[in-house]
Amino acid sequence: MHIDRKSALAGCLLGGALGDALGLAWEGIAPRRQARMRGGGGLRFALWPGLGLVSDDTEHAALTAQALVLSEGDVGRFQRVLAARLRLWIAALPPGVGLATGRALWKLWLGFPPGRNGVRSAGNGPAMRAAVIGVYFADDRERLLAYAEASAHLTHTDPRAIAGAQVVALCAMLATQHKADVGSVTAAIEPTLAGDAPGMADFRQLMAAALKSAGHGETTAAFCAAQSWHKGVQGYIVHTVAASVHAWLRHPRDLATALSAIVDCGGDTDSTAAIVGGLVGAWVGREGIPAKWLAGLRDWPWSAKRLNRLASGLAEGRGQGMSFPFWPLALLRNLLMLLLVLCHGLRRLLPPY
Ligand SMILES: [Mg+2]
Repeated sequence: MHIDRKSALAGCLLGGALGDALGLAWEGIAPRRQARMRGGGGLRFALWPGLGLVSDDTEHAALTAQALVLSEGDVGRFQRVLAARLRLWIAALPPGVGLATGRALWKLWLGFPPGRNGVRSAGNGPAMRAAVIGVYFADDRERLLAYAEASAHLTHTDPRAIAGAQVVALCAMLATQHKADVGSVTAAIEPTLAGDAPGMADFRQLMAAALKSAGHGETTAAFCAAQSWHKGVQGYIVHTVAASVHAWLRHPRDLATALSAIVDCGGDTDSTAAIVGGLVGAWVGREGIPAKWLAGLRDWPWSAKRLNRLASGLAEGRGQGMSFPFWPLALLRNLLMLLLVLCHGLRRLLPPY
């Protein structure tokens, strides 16, 4: 089945948003407790029943998509546009922002220039923004790597964070080409993970283990258990990328199964599922996303409708879907979201444990 570029971009954004929305209620919960709380049912929108609410993962992907269009092929401009959007975004007080991302973005308000505001951290932020870059530059590997690095630098400067973002972007590129085999992924990511920067040898080793495990047909849960990640996949980009790429390789064309496989692993479930959703979505396109889930994706500002419009703008290089969400409404939405997240935090004090 041939997927056109517009459909792949829409699939990537929508698949990522669905992963975010379906994983969000289980963020930070260990896999065993999550299984008890979910009671064996399939994935569903659980933060607010029936409504797909999204978090920073979807917002970062969408703002990155806007910056890709507005930068008109200039990577420096891309970084400045994305910085300006992320600066407004953080000022609307989104709940659940990673520590490094928060620090780096508030530094923009203090006058640090974009690209010199990032903090040395190997958190997940850059991986949230990478899949859409991979689909957008699927035919231009050099620009794909440069844009993934420029995006990563806006929040995280650790070499593992930059490499992690590039690995996700490269896998998204392969997904658009309908390649999800161990050989293709190994060849694509090898140069990115080369070098002797601190921690890079561990990243290489873990990715090799993930690819070998996926090649042997092991489940992603078994791979995570073999790494002793009993509390789930933590918000460390090396672990997040290894687990997410594993789940994608096992189920590259089946969004529901791939998302279940990664959410079952627990931990930073909204981010891991958003990455997996973006990769599977890039393969299956807009048409391969389950309609019942899309109908539930009615959050403001990033509803399925708005993400679709953004994908059209992205594919056609036109201005549609490029406006920044109305800021006072974003602030109000985020305060309501914070209330909801706090209610869920209280709920977690109760059994089952
Ligand atoms: Mg999130």
